[in-house]
Amino acid sequence: MYYYRSTAKKVIQVNMKLNIKNTFIENLPADKNLENSRRQVENAVYSFANPKQTQAPKVLHVSAEMAEKLGISIEETKSDFFKNIVTGNEIYPNTKPFAMCYAGHQFGNWAGQLGDGRAINLFEVAHQNKNWKVQLKGAGETPYSRTADGLAVLRSSIREYLCAEAMFYLGVPTTRSLSLSLSGDEVLRDVLYNGNPAYEKGAIVSRISPSFLRFGNFEIFAARNDLKNLKILTDYTINHHFKHLGAPSKTTYISFFKEVTTRTLDMIIHWQRVGFVHGVMNTDNMSILGLTIDYGPYGWLEGFDFGWTPNTTDRQNKRYRYGNQPNIGLWNLYQLANALYPLIEDAKPLEEILEQYKTDFQQKSFAMMKTKLGLFKDDENDLELIQQLEDDLQLVETDMTIFFRNLSNFTNAKLGLTLMQDAFYDLTAISKPIEKRWNSWFKKYEERLLLETISNTERKQKMDTANPKYVLRNYMAQLAIDNADKGNYDLIDTLFQLLKKPYEEQPENEKWFAKRPEWARNKVGCSMLSCSS
Ligand code: AMP
Ligand code: MG
Repeated sequence: MYYYRSTAKKVIQVNMKLNIKNTFIENLPADKNLENSRRQVENAVYSFANPKQTQAPKVLHVSAEMAEKLGISIEETKSDFFKNIVTGNEIYPNTKPFAMCYAGHQFGNWAGQLGDGRAINLFEVAHQNKNWKVQLKGAGETPYSRTADGLAVLRSSIREYLCAEAMFYLGVPTTRSLSLSLSGDEVLRDVLYNGNPAYEKGAIVSRISPSFLRFGNFEIFAARNDLKNLKILTDYTINHHFKHLGAPSKTTYISFFKEVTTRTLDMIIHWQRVGFVHGVMNTDNMSILGLTIDYGPYGWLEGFDFGWTPNTTDRQNKRYRYGNQPNIGLWNLYQLANALYPLIEDAKPLEEILEQYKTDFQQKSFAMMKTKLGLFKDDENDLELIQQLEDDLQLVETDMTIFFRNLSNFTNAKLGLTLMQDAFYDLTAISKPIEKRWNSWFKKYEERLLLETISNTERKQKMDTANPKYVLRNYMAQLAIDNADKGNYDLIDTLFQLLKKPYEEQPENEKWFAKRPEWARNKVGCSMLSCSS
């Protein structure tokens, strides 16, 4: 039995009882060394590590829907017990927190052991036939913290907390957020890596997923030629997350790889649809379940631009730019294939699956773009129509979200450009030749729509389920961060509620359906993000 004080100072009894499971730690080998010291960890999938006690923890926001999925009531989320659990200040009875050991390819290079440097897994909760892993991000150092402190700052925590839930409501596979809290401690960060470190508010996000395993968890054992543990981990993953594939065997490992490939591609197609750029698609940030994971220097396309990346660390090569995400997904899957190869010992089926990814990408990307355009019949010129649109969208800076959302109101080519007035960042940049190109595209689109049999109203309804009206524009998160730095957390909730219905018209929130304001164009946090978090 646990207690919390309501604002009326009345002590209320809260019995936050969770249905705890330990499948991960019971089935997988633990690091024998129990010290929380930084080191190379071998022959283990994880190391036990307890979260750090914090000065003055304060819960700022809770995802009530996620809490409910774990069997936690709203009332319980207001208790001191909940606060202490989600900030690492208390350990749930009979649980043993741990950090996972993984490696990864970062920006195309092998980086060796990385691991949960600032993530601590608390426990598993089974509820309504689902098994959820509960993890804290920013709760202190672990054996994998390397040269860093294991902590997280408020700005990056707000970004992760809001974006994961926003992605969920957009229908994009993702890890979820349960809570956002202040640790009460200060954290030193050099945001621009220019020798100007400053103290910021420390924060902790509790996040939830059926699994936090990454490609890198498999890569580390293959790299160390530790085939015993590679098999133990892969078998666990299949038995617990891909049970429908059957008992682990060489054939199952192949189907496992096939399914991870499909899920990864599907996730990336969703990213392309909504204009999400992950920013750091290193193999340690690729979930084995095909979920969007590790919200760091991510960003949302404002002007449609295949070459855009929000991550300043990647400014030179733009490896993780919007238009390259599908290729990187494939590159990362090659690394996973290499890691699983020793269990399969036959390259051919793996190569075939990777080859198939390319064909599937073409086909799925095309189908996705067709829904964005409201094209439900088939026409041989559709591919060209789409490619032309993608080219035209890059002629002058054109807001992706506004363009596609407004496109569902299209009725005739003559009004095409007028319909898109709000999508163009600089109307004066639309020269006569550009206007001509747009008019010609709208004409083709108008003619193409004649092939469709559904009414304009029906088409609009369908298109509006593929083209969100509200996304977490980079400047919106930054506004919430700027307010939070001043101690005002209201905007976090406003955005959280707004983004729960991204496809719906919300007349009272129309102000968020607008281009990025000019002040945000080159502002740190809005268009420029570093990995410093
Ligand atoms: P990321 O780029 O955020 O996915 O992080 C890459 C690696 O660095 C992972 O192993 C993280 O756990 C680790 N890492 C990032 N930030 C910190 C930090 N503040 N303290 C300790 N480890 C960190
Ligand atoms: Mg990461």
